[in-house]
Amino acid sequence: MRIVIGEIAHETNTFCPGQTTEDHFRARGWVVGQEVIERYAGIRSDIGGMIAAGNDLGHELAPTLATWAEPWGTIALATYNRLLGDLLDGIQAAMASGPVDAVCLALHGAGVADATDDLEGSILTAVRDLVGPNTPIIVTLDLHGNVTPTMVEQATVLLGCHLYPHVDAYERGVEAIELADRIVRGEISPVAHLVQIPMLIPTSTTDVDPAKAINAVCAEWEARPGVIDCTFMHGFPYTDIPRAGVTVTATADGDPALAQKAAEAVASELWARRNEFVLAAVSAEEAIARAIEAPGQPVVINETADNPGGGAPGDATHLLRAMLASGVSNTCFGAVCDAETARAAHEAGVGVTIPVKLGGKSGPLNGDPIEAEATVVAITDGRFNATSSMMAGMPFDLGPSARLNIGGIDIVVTSRRSQVFDPEIFRIHGIDVTTYKIVGLKSSQHFRAGFLDIAASIIRADTPGATSIDLHAIPYERLKRPIWPLDADLTWAPNSSPT
Ligand SMILES: [Zn+2]
Repeated sequence: MRIVIGEIAHETNTFCPGQTTEDHFRARGWVVGQEVIERYAGIRSDIGGMIAAGNDLGHELAPTLATWAEPWGTIALATYNRLLGDLLDGIQAAMASGPVDAVCLALHGAGVADATDDLEGSILTAVRDLVGPNTPIIVTLDLHGNVTPTMVEQATVLLGCHLYPHVDAYERGVEAIELADRIVRGEISPVAHLVQIPMLIPTSTTDVDPAKAINAVCAEWEARPGVIDCTFMHGFPYTDIPRAGVTVTATADGDPALAQKAAEAVASELWARRNEFVLAAVSAEEAIARAIEAPGQPVVINETADNPGGGAPGDATHLLRAMLASGVSNTCFGAVCDAETARAAHEAGVGVTIPVKLGGKSGPLNGDPIEAEATVVAITDGRFNATSSMMAGMPFDLGPSARLNIGGIDIVVTSRRSQVFDPEIFRIHGIDVTTYKIVGLKSSQHFRAGFLDIAASIIRADTPGATSIDLHAIPYERLKRPIWPLDADLTWAPNSSPT
């Protein structure tokens, strides 16, 4: 069996002040052809899972394009055309050199480009046109994807990851290849049903309820005979398109009524429990006060509103400023994206104290720069491989980076944006986070994959920012209304219009 594989992944925050261009994708890797296998074999990601399963089952893989970018603004038209062009060129080349039995793609699901509100729907339509109606197309998605009817129509199966942190992306990649195998052999005939719920939720880890409980309902349905997959897709609320929001996709073997029943049952449960998704807000000052009092170490405080993994700039100074003002000691913080300060640290060298205006350069929402005397403790090239169960082995290159000490706090400064997934960005700067009382970091939930086992406790600080948990603060213009929680009194049920 010969299976095409590929990846185009972007979570687009349409509120960002800039566009996502080819450079953003190339910073994380834009690999074509056989290089896809060389780069991603053994890595815990969707495509890594596809490669492993293809090899295990003895299939020939035809790699096309694999690329992803840190979440940021709407994808520029030229970049969209290049992404689609490289993917289609790869598929065409595979078709020219032999039979293509199936296509497996990792597409995230929350992409928006100048040309389309529905990046994945547009990609899948183009791929379907190319391979024809009879070739199975199996797609893995990030649970933050905003799933559309077009995606469901054009794909044979959509498989969202179930967990947040997304530690099961690899397993979904494996499942994609296994399903392709069974479909091509004629063992199963998948049909899907999508329910779009008029509901937005803030960042919701599946480690705890209510998301954990909803996953349990999905798992019950998946265990029933004839159900292939049942996925609660959280959707991505920081994108101003008409159909952003929570969805449920269920896939059954040749039984559309069963798929519909499963999807509607999960959707009803989600709607009934919607109020549980509202997160308690704790100010930076309150978070620090609680961390000081909390037993054990390290206590992790995450600045969820400035999460580069959701498209935020990563240079907000709200939490760090509060930490400096509180006089806490034995504290580290990472990572502030500020290429100018990182460069100044590299030019000064280790041991030198320099004046800095750190962070706060991306706009008023993110606070003012921190003006201080900073001692350069370490400088690095910002390169490391991820270590947590989420993306173990994935290479990162955050550019020239430095460890500064300001007022007794050790601060990691990078040249490129990235949320903190695991302690590696600290470790390469000589920081063992377990020796600190308080660790401040920028991430919403993914850090949990790398910190849950070592953190004494975790406290979420709710500061102003581009990825605030307060969805009422997001300036939507195009989002289809009514939608909960913006329209709080909404009534809805599957198969009905919201009123
Ligand atoms: Zn995600």
